[in-house]
Amino acid sequence: MSFTVEERGNPNTLSYRLFFKNSDGKYVSPFHDIPMYADESQNIFHVVVEVPRWTNSKMEIATKDPLNPIKQDVKKGNLRYVANVFPHKGYIWNYGAIPQTWEDPGHKDGDTGCCGDNDPIDVCEIGTKVCSRGEVIKVKVLGVLAMIDEGETDWKVMAINVEDPEAKDLNDISDIQRLKPGYLEATVDWFRRYKVPDGKPENQFAFNGAFKDKDFAIETIKSTHGFWKALISEKTNAGGLNCKNTCVSAGDSPFCCSTDEAKAVVGRTSPCGTEDHIPCSGKSLKIFFTLRL
Ligand SMILES: [Mg+2]
Repeated sequence: MSFTVEERGNPNTLSYRLFFKNSDGKYVSPFHDIPMYADESQNIFHVVVEVPRWTNSKMEIATKDPLNPIKQDVKKGNLRYVANVFPHKGYIWNYGAIPQTWEDPGHKDGDTGCCGDNDPIDVCEIGTKVCSRGEVIKVKVLGVLAMIDEGETDWKVMAINVEDPEAKDLNDISDIQRLKPGYLEATVDWFRRYKVPDGKPENQFAFNGAFKDKDFAIETIKSTHGFWKALISEKTNAGGLNCKNTCVSAGDSPFCCSTDEAKAVVGRTSPCGTEDHIPCSGKSLKIFFTLRL
């Protein structure tokens, strides 16, 4: 199963969108149409890469837009960039989401005591390759961190690309500690402080910031897949989320639309145009030092 992307609008502007197509050339939603599993028997999951490592643009699957293209998060009318919080540069992993998952804001997690953040579950991919935006990769899940962001549960799944030369040696969270010393500590440090330059408090973590193992992570992902199934079959209220899809069988989803309707959705967005410069006054070009509490 392979996917390609199609850019629309002007890069580094509010109009930029990245749409997804399957191998038949049909538009698909990266939230709903890409299967969660690449290989269920081996517990290999798909990940949609939203942010390549060492970049700053906060790109994400637009859960409220039809066909859910990737677009840059906007805050107070401005494109959002994550700051370089010393000693980090941009995101320190390939960052993305597992399709067909949803952290239900109506479900209070038994371990964190907090409800979901209304997004697909997030992934930090720790392989050597710097992925590209919109790449759909296959990963082995190694563990999970339970971040609490302003009172919402926001799981961060740790995973490695199955094509990474070291993937065969990484099978659980302890292997990251052993083979990539410092990476887990850096991950907690990054999530704790990344919003401090925006004037926000440090993020908190359940389990005292300890990572849970592979089995716990897989169970967590499966529970978010269950919430997504309820969402796509209209058993849960979608709120403002856009569930339009082209591949979930119509019997399973009232939101399934035709190939022509999907083409029309893309046709209504701005055609591909020239790139803008990233504002040189922006925080993605500075280094921020924040006091550790
Ligand atoms: Mg999240």
